[in-house]
Amino acid sequence: MSRTTVATIHLGALRHNLERIRELAAPAKVMAVVKADAYGHGLERVARALDGAADAFAVASLGDGLRLRAAGHRQRIVVLSGPDQAGDIAEMQRLGLDAAIHHESQLHWLSETSPTRGRLRVWMKIDSGMHRLGFAPERAATVHAQLATMPGIDPDIGLMTHFAESEVFDGERTRQQIERFRNATYGLSGPRSLANSAAVLGWPDARADWVRTGGMLYGLSVVDGKSGADFGFRAAMTLSTRLIAINTIGRGERIGYNGLWECPEDMPVGVAAVGYGDGYPRSAAAGTPVRVGNRCVPLIGRVSMDLITLDLRDAPEAKVGDRVVLWGPELPVEIVAAQSGTISYDLTCGMTRRVLFVED
Ligand code: PLP
Repeated sequence: MSRTTVATIHLGALRHNLERIRELAAPAKVMAVVKADAYGHGLERVARALDGAADAFAVASLGDGLRLRAAGHRQRIVVLSGPDQAGDIAEMQRLGLDAAIHHESQLHWLSETSPTRGRLRVWMKIDSGMHRLGFAPERAATVHAQLATMPGIDPDIGLMTHFAESEVFDGERTRQQIERFRNATYGLSGPRSLANSAAVLGWPDARADWVRTGGMLYGLSVVDGKSGADFGFRAAMTLSTRLIAINTIGRGERIGYNGLWECPEDMPVGVAAVGYGDGYPRSAAAGTPVRVGNRCVPLIGRVSMDLITLDLRDAPEAKVGDRVVLWGPELPVEIVAAQSGTISYDLTCGMTRRVLFVED
């Protein structure tokens, strides 16, 4: 099958980014966060590229852990929100996955499950202020003691929390979260993990024993107004397609669905084979940059399912068949995200099944 829209995953960039994270976070160990199909880059592909380089992988679900084990990965895998049900515990033990314990119901399942083989490694999640997952700080010591006496649990219990806005360097909320976590875990044994990507950059106090980095691994921006490249990271995905038509459209004519954009003069309008059916955001505003050959030109009109339209007045050399880049190392995905009212993570996660993935 011939397909025009291609996501190219740059494996060298992934490895480079992991090394850069190591430099920044040292001496902390690095959990490579590969949830959501490795932020849309492909779970097995990314894990293969980073095998042996990351100290652990972090995933959102038992299913992702199973996929990694099935692909032959033997290293540590942390399930950031599992187990989701009692039956998951035996499966996690069988697969040797670390469990994140964040709720009373999980304590109940653990106390009812007799260990079959080996000991389950657990991370106790503390809600230091994000109010998503985790035990209240006042419960930390009690839950830790409870876990420590359970026979099937590895006594080296990890202590974890997650930040709500670590990208705001010097922000009061993160400072408060660090403080609450410190107080809650004071005197408790076990490795600590607080920092996501932005915290590695902006909150040195939070690097602790393990960092959990996703965005930076893929070269994505984790701080408003900055690109990944500003911090020495390389974009790990290029989304590209081809120009499939160039039409001359007359002054005053309107382009695309609902005629949102009016031609100010007779002009060449390019049509590229990508749309929201591929994961290019329908909300991308007129003016969003798109690269045709070596030039950036503005998107015009509404993004449709399979196609976008481009103002080619400044690209007289453009011709049908030219490569069109929607984002990648030369066109940061965060620029497209900002023009679409979202963040870069949302775009890379949104590639659909008809996009052809290749590696370089
Ligand atoms: N840790 C947890 C619990 C998360 O949910 C996430 C991502 O949302 C991360 C770490 C990684 O965050 P980032 O991609 O910003 O590094």
